[in-house]
Amino acid sequence: MLNGERKILRPLRWGMVGGGRLGQVGYKHRLGALRDNTAFTLKAGAFDIDPERGKDFGINIGVEESRCYPNYQAMFAEEARREDGVEVVSIATPNGTHYEITKAALEAGLHVICEKPLFFTSEEGEEIKRLAEQKGKIVGVTYGFSGNQMLLQMRSMIEQGKIGDIRIVDLQYTHGFSSTEDADKFSDAQKWRVDPKIAGPTFVLGDLSTHTYYMSQLIMPNMKVKKLLCDRQSFINSRAPLEDNAFVSMHYENGAVGRLWTSSVNAGCMDGHRIRIVGSKASLEWWDSKPGELRYEVQGEPVQTLIRAMPYLDEQCNADERLGALHTEGLSESWANIYLKFAIAIDAKNREDEETLRNLVYPDIDAGIDGIRWLENCVRSAENGSVWVDFADRPLLDV
Ligand code: NAD
Repeated sequence: MLNGERKILRPLRWGMVGGGRLGQVGYKHRLGALRDNTAFTLKAGAFDIDPERGKDFGINIGVEESRCYPNYQAMFAEEARREDGVEVVSIATPNGTHYEITKAALEAGLHVICEKPLFFTSEEGEEIKRLAEQKGKIVGVTYGFSGNQMLLQMRSMIEQGKIGDIRIVDLQYTHGFSSTEDADKFSDAQKWRVDPKIAGPTFVLGDLSTHTYYMSQLIMPNMKVKKLLCDRQSFINSRAPLEDNAFVSMHYENGAVGRLWTSSVNAGCMDGHRIRIVGSKASLEWWDSKPGELRYEVQGEPVQTLIRAMPYLDEQCNADERLGALHTEGLSESWANIYLKFAIAIDAKNREDEETLRNLVYPDIDAGIDGIRWLENCVRSAENGSVWVDFADRPLLDV
């Protein structure tokens, strides 16, 4: 189980390109990279296409002003001159910039963590791979949900033959947020997604299905796609030639077949990321609405739900566990929210800002006392033969 202790000698000095104030995905990079405090430390950034906004944002998230750069070229050049310059950079900019920024970063001697879809062509990918090898650097790709440890459980169960020979692969990654034409007008992040010059040759296939395809390969490393058929549509005509919906049929080398549905016009869908692997004996299914659970369905037997962090899971799966059994995935976000409010309260107290303190909702001393009062009343009731007691507004240590 992970507990934040260091896994490498010291945190890597990290920079970001993109992921600024209005960026959709930038905060997820920082949440992931900085959570343990022992893997990465954010030292520099060219956070925004708008240099002033990028600088203001960088300062606001704690980066030294002199290391908030107007563009990535300046950042790579200036950081290379410093002894304590960044060693690795994450690229969280629109698709069409990934290739040139990755290339420049490698040439500047940096490791790279880049958003998906990585580049527009596999030739670009091969070229960058050669450059990375030549420079002795890593290039990582942020298929965000692929770090979910239950996928490793699926991988290990398949490897152990728990579902038999794989026959059918059923993949889905859909949502409904682009169901109307208006969606393309109001958000910058959506505007570039339907512009082939910036998004590349696909919309939802690149935006969504690349995640699911990678995750399926992670789960079934030996299953290679032999041929595929893609049927794609632009239900909102103005998006053509880019698709907002696609069905992909696949034939695998071992004779298995598969399908992948990806869509941004699956109106109303809020939990459309699903992976089902059907074998000759049993099936395994993962769904993002319950990311800590796996359905294991053996033909002729009752369905089993495998739950994260339990000792019956594979060692590899539990090695990536962060919360422990019982606690659910939303807990980390909740802890972060509480800690932020503690900080705001402490700051307001230091500044004698009573109004902020009055309006801030967080578990304060009164909440603590109320919790004690709850316990006192529970004990008083139980010890008096489980009787009704008034939830009195006074200490009740006299049971
Ligand atoms: P966005 O448009 O919301 O944000 C892009 C950010 O990059 C903005 O802050 C913008 O100012 C900045 N930017 C643009 N060009 C820049 C440049 N040349 N230099 C510096 N900053 C620049 O886009 P987004 O939705 O955050 O998507 C960014 C990338 O992340 C895309 O490739 C997208 O496919 C990917 N993405 C991945 C996930 C995931 O789960 N891994 C989720 C969402 C988006």
